[in-house]
Amino acid sequence: MTLLRSGSATDTGLVRSVNQDLAVETGTLFAVADGMGGHAGGEVAARLAVDTLTVAFGSKPSGAGLSEAVNEANRVVHEHSLDNPELRGMGTTMTAAALVNEDGRDVIALVNVGDSRSYRYHEGELTQITVDHSLAEEMVRSGEISESEAAVHPHRHILTRALGVADDVTVDLWRIQPTRGDRFLLCSDGLTNELGSEQIAEVLATVPDPQVAADLLVRAARTHGGSDNITVVVVDVVLDDEPDDGAPIGGEVPAVAAVAADFRTAADEPEPPPVAAGPDDVEVLPGPEPLRPKFRDRWRARRKARRAARGRRLVTFRTLLFVVLLGAIVFGAYYAVRWYDTNAYYVQVNDNELMIFHGRVGGGVLYKPVEVERTGVTTADIPAYAVPGLVTGIQEDSLKAAQAYVAGLVATQHQAVCAQNPFAPACTATGTGLPPVGTTTSTTRAP
Ligand code: MN
Repeated sequence: MTLLRSGSATDTGLVRSVNQDLAVETGTLFAVADGMGGHAGGEVAARLAVDTLTVAFGSKPSGAGLSEAVNEANRVVHEHSLDNPELRGMGTTMTAAALVNEDGRDVIALVNVGDSRSYRYHEGELTQITVDHSLAEEMVRSGEISESEAAVHPHRHILTRALGVADDVTVDLWRIQPTRGDRFLLCSDGLTNELGSEQIAEVLATVPDPQVAADLLVRAARTHGGSDNITVVVVDVVLDDEPDDGAPIGGEVPAVAAVAADFRTAADEPEPPPVAAGPDDVEVLPGPEPLRPKFRDRWRARRKARRAARGRRLVTFRTLLFVVLLGAIVFGAYYAVRWYDTNAYYVQVNDNELMIFHGRVGGGVLYKPVEVERTGVTTADIPAYAVPGLVTGIQEDSLKAAQAYVAGLVATQHQAVCAQNPFAPACTATGTGLPPVGTTTSTTRAP
């Protein structure tokens, strides 16, 4: 039995005003769609595509079913764009991974259309499984430009294949044997445009929780520029098909050297690079809680080697990670203190009048109290015993509580006066003898 654990995160980034990316994260199906097209077209395309994919895959949960589900999503998006002129030309990328059982064996089926990517992190190595369907990638394949030139090429965003732009689309499909400890990363180009694969691998190597890893990757891409929507799904294989004695269940395990099955126009499509995965990859882990120690040891060794090989670049990214994490902590602390400062009111005597302030007595750390109400109540209207406390300030939780406190003092004083002298002018009329608690507001800073 194969067991997966996942986490996902998405962010609009720092430049775009809307998020046209979508992530899918169910128990067995994971996907990232990066929509494109003006007038909400990108959002519509991505939404239609993932909804159709989810339903269609649900009715045929297999590798072929996943690929057909992408074709079905393509049809739905394309027809919708033909029926709605304002959405004409909309489209989306789609990279998806699903746990399927084929011939009694668990397999990760992986599909792709467009330039969102799927990676496999296996034994400390990050390998890109999908092939970008972009002009730049085709130029790399034809030898016109190098991989590093492609990363900054002006045509890197021009897609040669997308979902929904034509009535038919070719879907790349891979089948990969899930191995305990493997991590699959699905992401939109908003991640890979900002972070290099070394940086992505660094996060995957050091952050065991998939949700935390997804969050951190998105935050790192934001910090690195965030010029596009960023979406990440991290899927961990926490349990695989192999029994503890290392013998595969149900006999022989066929080598899953990445079956690249192109549908429809398979002939004119380039072959995606093979992903090594087979019986050799099966590692049997001792003990009931083997995953973390094994991971840690492996990471340590790999990281040591890579650090030695690369020198200072790693330090730079580690510093970035540190800054991002520290930033999050400082932000959190700032808002906690500010919340403490602003989530309070107090009553204080100012020029013989009782005033209500927003903030903390004596001023908060980050928030200077603001006068919010002149009550119109003077020290003569309240019991004398309350005055010293009010000179310092009486803290209350809310404006209502502060007002109630003032009204209470006034009522107490009123009762005391009338008990002594029932014929005083304020005591003869019923119920109207109380001076009103004022409603004047102002935003003057406290003295
Ligand atoms: Mn994008």
